[in-house]
Order: sequence, then C-alpha cells, then structure tokens
Amino acid sequence: METEGGAGNVVLYLSIDPYQYIRSTKIEKPGYFSSYSPGSVMASYGVVRVLESGHSDFQKGDLVWGTTGWEEYSLITEPETLFKIQHSDVPLSYYLGVLGMPGLTAYVGFYEFCAAKKGETVFISSAFGAVGQLVGQLAKLMGCYVVGSAGSQEKVDLLKNKLGFDAAFNYKEEKNLDDTLKSYEVTNVSFKKLNPQVLAVVVASIHCRHFPEGIDICFDNVGGKMLDAVLLNMKLNGRIAHCGMISQYTLDEPEGIKNMMNIIYKRLRLEGFVVTDYYHLFPKFLDFMLPCIREGKIVYVEDISEALESCPAALVGLFNSSNLGKKVVIVARL
Ligand code: NDP
Repeated sequence: METEGGAGNVVLYLSIDPYQYIRSTKIEKPGYFSSYSPGSVMASYGVVRVLESGHSDFQKGDLVWGTTGWEEYSLITEPETLFKIQHSDVPLSYYLGVLGMPGLTAYVGFYEFCAAKKGETVFISSAFGAVGQLVGQLAKLMGCYVVGSAGSQEKVDLLKNKLGFDAAFNYKEEKNLDDTLKSYEVTNVSFKKLNPQVLAVVVASIHCRHFPEGIDICFDNVGGKMLDAVLLNMKLNGRIAHCGMISQYTLDEPEGIKNMMNIIYKRLRLEGFVVTDYYHLFPKFLDFMLPCIREGKIVYVEDISEALESCPAALVGLFNSSNLGKKVVIVARL
C-alpha cells in the first residue's frame, strides 16, 4: 500500500453529496470537477484511518478526512486533499457534514457572500439538507428572521422545532411559490356562536410569516422555479448566495429563469461560489464551529446508512427527498 507521497487507508465513513451526480454526467463543467471516466471509482469525501503512509504528515493510525472513493481500502496520492482529524470528541461522521465540506460551504456562503445583519430576512432552499440546516442556524445566531423550504412535512417540522427556524414550508405542496413567499399564515382560528341566527364569527390571529416585506438574503441550493419566485420577492439591494441548483441537475434541458431582470431592477447581488476555493479557511472555520457544537449552539441532523453497497441508493435518495439530514454511509467501524 505504501507509495511515495501517498497513503493507504481503510475507509470508515463515506459522504453522499449532490456533486457526485453532477460528475457522473457528460455535461461540460469548466472550472469545476471533471466528469468521471467509465469504470473509474466514484470519488467521495470520506473519513479514513491510515494503514500505511509514504508522506511525512501522516502516520499509521491517523484519522483523516478528505477525498477518497466508494471502496473499502483507498490509496490516496494527493495528500493536499486530506485533513487530519485532531478532535475526536465529536462524532467522526461530523467531518463529512457540519465539520467538513458541507459545513465549510455553509460558513463560506453565509459569511463571505450574504453580508447579513441582525434583523434581516433570510430564505434558504433545501433547508434541511447538509448545507441548508447550518446556514439557517448561522443566520439565527446572527439575529436574522429565517425561513426555509424542504420537501416533506417531517423536514418542515424539524426545521421549526429542532433547528430554530422561524418558519418553513413544504415546497411540494405549494401551488404558487411567489404567493407562498409573500404570504401571511393564519395560525389560530376560533369560532364563536353569536346567536342561533348568526352561526359563527371567525376570530383569527394572523401571524406574519414568510416575507410579506421581502427577502434580504437568499441562500439558494435549488435554482429553477424556486429561484424565479425568490427573484420576485427580493428586497432592494438584496443578496443571493448561489450555492447549488439541485432542481436542475437531472434535467436534460435546464429550465430558464424568467425573472432575471429583477437582479437589475432591485440592484441585487447574486454570486456563485465553489467551496474548494476556500479550504484555506478550514482552520478558522473549525475554531468557530467546534465550540458552537460543544456548547449546543449548533445542532446537526445526520441520516446514516450501513455498508458500501448502500451508496448508490443513498445518492439516488438525495434526488427524491428521502434523506433526512446529511447523508453518510458507514463502511467500517473503528
Ligand atoms: P442535501 O443534503 O441537501 O441533499 C440534497 C437535497 O436536495 C435533498 O435532500 C432534497 O431535499 C433536495 N432536492 C432534491 N431534488 C430537489 C428538487 N428537484 N427541488 C428542490 N429540492 C430538491 O445536499 P447538500 O446540502 O449537500 O447540497 C445542497 C446544494 O448545495 C446542492 O445544490 C449542492 O449541489 C450544493 N453544494 C454546493 C457547493 C458549492 O461549493 N457551491 C458545495 C456543497 C453543496 P428536499 O426534501 O428539501 O427536497
């Protein structure tokens, strides 16, 4: 297993991420990861234990996260893609989620691109995913009003009751996303009988939800129809961190965005970014995120499957909303 500058490793955990599907398509991706060549091992972030190392930074027994593959043993020849795990008082799987690539994505996207201020309104699509659940909590720590969208009632309930979002909705049940983003919700309706002739009077307490006055910041994981509706609802000088477009990845022809002119009308800033450009921020990110986890300021929901064979189904699950939080596969235990 030994190789000059490389390391032979046993794979413990694998991360399941949307980019793995993007890489499996033949569509050109200039400036991004290349497509897989047929027969190659599916690349994957993973947590591994070093068995043998030809690199002075890594010793036998070290725990490391970084780029590996869908395999039980892995020979890694690009040590610059590996990060040594120094703190093992948190679950090792966290290095594939809240303390790994998705966590850094949320951190970079929110702090570098959103320029959020206390009291601003924030919308996050795919809010219960690996990235979205963190962005929402970072925005709450900043004192923002936070609304998320997700693909099931269970996710919506968890966003509000476990992650502290102010509001959330199931985008699959909304007929008109523009109306949804603008809407107020009637949360408490009671009926009073006045007399036998007048059967009932509705007393409703109407709580302002979603964005009747518009969105200051959108963290967009989804693109497509959701982004179109967001553009109509952004406030003047709003910011959109354009992280992903998962609603488009499996389409042969991406849907057009109709409301692009709003970027001009409303003087919006819409910026795309790729997290791998920001790995130099990883130590700073870890210094921030580890105490947040230890103090319970940030919670993180994972969806864990067992066995290497479950990887393909786990990847498909990202595209039909069946993951409930960050998807991780356990390949071997320590
Ligand atoms: P998730 O863990 O959130 O999994 C993907 C989720 O996307 C699913 O759970 C599903 O949730 C949602 N989804 C799937 N299909 C659709 C659809 N057609 N419309 C709306 N939502 C859909 O993934 P991540 O949090 O890891 O990634 C979120 C986004 O961020 C992706 O677009 C990804 O490509 C991007 N990304 C970008 C990075 C960058 O550097 N720019 C780095 C990492 C991720 P639901 O139940 O809500 O439908």
